[in-house]
Amino acid sequence: MSAPARETMRRGWCPGTLRPMLTGDGLLVRLHPPHNALTPDQLARVAELAARHGNGQIEISGRGNLQLRGIRAEAHPALVDDLLAAGLVDEAEGDGPNRLVLTSPLAGRAADELIDAAVLAEAVERAGRGVAGLPAKLSIVVDGGGALALDSFAVDLRLRVVTAEAVAFGLPGDLWFAPVARDEVPVLTAQLLGGFVTVSRRSPDQIRRMRDLDPEGLATLATSCGLVPMAAPAARPKPITIGLVAERDSQFALLAGLPFGRTGTDGLVRLGTLASDAGVREIRLSPWRGFAFCGLRPDAAGVLQAALRSEGLVVEPDDPRLSVSACTGAPACARGKAPALADAAVLADALSPLLAHGLSLHVSGCAKSCAHPGSADLTLVGAGGRYDVIVAGGANDAAMARLSLRELVRRLEPGQDIRARLDAAHTG
Ligand code: SF4
Repeated sequence: MSAPARETMRRGWCPGTLRPMLTGDGLLVRLHPPHNALTPDQLARVAELAARHGNGQIEISGRGNLQLRGIRAEAHPALVDDLLAAGLVDEAEGDGPNRLVLTSPLAGRAADELIDAAVLAEAVERAGRGVAGLPAKLSIVVDGGGALALDSFAVDLRLRVVTAEAVAFGLPGDLWFAPVARDEVPVLTAQLLGGFVTVSRRSPDQIRRMRDLDPEGLATLATSCGLVPMAAPAARPKPITIGLVAERDSQFALLAGLPFGRTGTDGLVRLGTLASDAGVREIRLSPWRGFAFCGLRPDAAGVLQAALRSEGLVVEPDDPRLSVSACTGAPACARGKAPALADAAVLADALSPLLAHGLSLHVSGCAKSCAHPGSADLTLVGAGGRYDVIVAGGANDAAMARLSLRELVRRLEPGQDIRARLDAAHTG
C-alpha cells in the first residue's frame, strides 16, 4: 500500500493495529481482519509476520481479535505496512473507538440465522462510526438468531433480530424496546449513540459506557429516539462455542478453541495447512478464543476435527481448558514471575474434575492480570516462581497463601468437595 494510504490509515481508525499497547513483553498489536475472515494463506502470513516483528506469540482475544505479542517498537511501522499489503487490516475512516460491532463468527453463513447478520452488522458499524466522540470501548452486539447467541458478552447495545424484518433494541440492565423495521436499525442506532455522546459530555462523572447510566437515564435516551419499551424477551439458549455448526448449502463450520486462547507461529502455520488440506477457504475468528473453519463438507469436517484434536486444540465442549484463563507469563513476558501458560496446562489437567464442576481458574504471570481482568473462583498470581492463591477474587485481592505448582496440585487432589479442596489449598 502506498505511503499516503498508510498515512490516511494512521490518522483514522483501527487503533488496535495502528496504535499498539505496551505490555510486559513489548507491544501488543491487535488485528481485526476485514469481514472477520482470513484465508489459510493469510493465517500463515500472520504467523510469519508475528515471528519476524515480534516474539511469535499470538492470541485471540475475548472479542475475537487476533493479538500479536512482543512486537518491537522499531518494527511496528514495517509490520503495519506488511499487514496492509496483505489486506489484513480492517479499513475505515474517521476518528472513534475500536470496532463497534461484535457478531457471531458465522454471521452470514449459519443455516439457522434469521437474516444475514453480517450485512446488518456492517451497516450498523458504518452508521456507528459516523457518530463523532464515541468512547473507545463502546460495543454493540448484532444477534442474527441461530445457535451462536452472544448473550454472555457485556455490551452497551444489543440488536436482536426477532423476525426476518424486525429487530429489537436491548440496553444494559435488561431494558428492551419493541422491534423496529430492519432497514431503520442503522439510523436509529446512530441516533441512540449520538444521544449517548451528548449525555456523556454533560455528565460530571465522565460516563464512558452506556451501562454506567442509570435505568431511568437509559430509558429516557431510548424513548427520545422513538423506541418503545417492552418486556424483556426470553434469554437466548446457551450458544455452541465449540463443535460443528450447520451452514447454508449443506456445509459445516467447525468451531475450535486455541488452548488458553494462545498459540505460537508454528502452530498457526500448521492450522493454516490443516485447514487448506480440508478444503477450507475461509477461517473466521471466534470470540470464544478460537477459530471457525468454514465451508466444510461433512466428511472433511470429521477429518479436520481429528487433526485439530491431535494438534492440541480444543474441539470438545467439555474440555477443562475452557474454564481456565492464562497469560503468557515467564519467560516470554519479562514481567512474568511464573510460567503461567505452561503451569495452566498442568493445572487444567490436574484439576479437570473441579473444572468440569464449573470452577473458573485464572493463572496470571504477575498482578497485571492481562488474560482476565475480573475475578475467578481460583486466581493464581505469579510471585517468585510460586503463586499467590486468591479464592473467589481477582489478582489484586488479598492472597491466602503462596504455593508452588507442585503444592497446589497436591492440595487440590481429588476426593473432597470443591470448596473443601479450595480451602485446603490455602490453609496450613
Ligand atoms: S499478566 Fe502475564 S502477560 Fe501480563 S504483564 Fe504479567 S506476566 Fe506479562
